[in-house]
Amino acid sequence: MDDVLYADVVVVGAGILGLAHAHEARKRGLSVVVVDKDERCVGASIRNFGFVTVSGLRGGDIWRRAVTSRDEWLLVAPQAGIPIQHRGTWLVVWHPLAWEVAKAFAQSEMGEEVELVPAEQLASRAPEVNAEGAIGALYSPHEVRVESVTAIPALAKWLESLGVRFIWGEEVLGTDGGTVWTNRHRIEAERSVLCPGTLLTGIGSESLDRHDITLSKLQMLRVAPRRPVTFNAAVMNELSLARYQGYADLPEAKAWGDYLDEHEPELRAAGIHLIAVQSADGSLVIGDSHEYGRDPDPFAKDSVDRMIIEQLQRSANVGEIDVLSRWVGVYPTADIDCVIDAPYPDQRVVVVTSGKGASTGFGIAKDVFDNWDRGSNV
Ligand SMILES: Cc1cc2nc3c(=O)[nH]c(=O)nc-3n(C[C@H](O)[C@H](O)[C@H](O)COP(=O)(O)OP(=O)(O)OC[C@H]3O[C@@H](n4cnc5c(N)ncnc54)[C@H](O)[C@@H]3O)c2cc1C
Repeated sequence: MDDVLYADVVVVGAGILGLAHAHEARKRGLSVVVVDKDERCVGASIRNFGFVTVSGLRGGDIWRRAVTSRDEWLLVAPQAGIPIQHRGTWLVVWHPLAWEVAKAFAQSEMGEEVELVPAEQLASRAPEVNAEGAIGALYSPHEVRVESVTAIPALAKWLESLGVRFIWGEEVLGTDGGTVWTNRHRIEAERSVLCPGTLLTGIGSESLDRHDITLSKLQMLRVAPRRPVTFNAAVMNELSLARYQGYADLPEAKAWGDYLDEHEPELRAAGIHLIAVQSADGSLVIGDSHEYGRDPDPFAKDSVDRMIIEQLQRSANVGEIDVLSRWVGVYPTADIDCVIDAPYPDQRVVVVTSGKGASTGFGIAKDVFDNWDRGSNV
């Protein structure tokens, strides 16, 4: 072992969760070292949509953390040189059963500032939305979109400029609480935060073993519309009303989910719903699908990509498109939204198990340090 380093906090993992904890610790005036086994972040945090979601998340902690995180993204982004690509979401609805869910959501506590927009207004308000045959759309102003593939490295660079030390390309092999070690460094800290993401069998895994965690594999594409189109907001559609818990938990969603099970078994079996967001060069990141298992295979199915593209063309005025790239991403999933565990008094293990780390990471980190400083275990 080459070196011993000292810090107030050592964070393991430089995905959005690790970076959010490093940021929160810096805000509290603490010295921070972040260690990641890879030379740069290549995990879920750069494979996602960069879609910082609020509407559609389950009520309670996850929703509160998403609101905190969205506000923090808006504060951090300009300082770290991260452009906000667009704000808000259009969720297009064709089926009356789905419209009932949209109406119920708009009237719920979480529906504040959310609007039900009839189809005839969509051409002027949202030319990117394909209103043909639609009843209307649910508009939420709450979301923001960042380009994760550049935003995550920019966030790390900005934290580095604030004094956070990064050690890349070293796997943390062991820990006894505040102290962690790699094969080259021993980092002695007052506290450690382990954010290992999808690695369910490595460091911190004792905390994860207590939950019935599996992995969800998603297929994603970057596509370029052949004629220019501008997305002023993310585009989703009625499939999400039976998938995102904030909608799907409403009593009105039961009939809609049953309808989809009967009439769209292929889409349901592949766990498909549409999220489409735009990048600065006009290309779109679209997805996604969900396949579950502890060891998902790495192969993307063409049939699934085709269904995602169909949903895009049904929901947005994109016309013909070219596929620029395809990839697979994985996130942990469980019956709780986030594991926060304290295997030692001076250590926290934090893993998002809802596929919403970009949306909730900053809020989770704030809760973790608030509770820790208050003497609460988690
Ligand atoms: C395709 C896809 C789309 C998604 N879309 C969205 C979205 O639009 N909005 C949203 O909110 N969420 C989305 N998510 C979920 C979100 O991306 C994740 O919840 C989030 O990225 C998790 O962040 P993380 O830091 O925990 O994990 P990761 O990004 O996986 O980072 C974990 C890091 O820990 C490191 N590590 C692990 N073990 C060790 C060790 N022993 N030593 C050193 N380093 C270690 C890894 O190398 C890795 O860099 C999506 C996920 C996927 C896969």
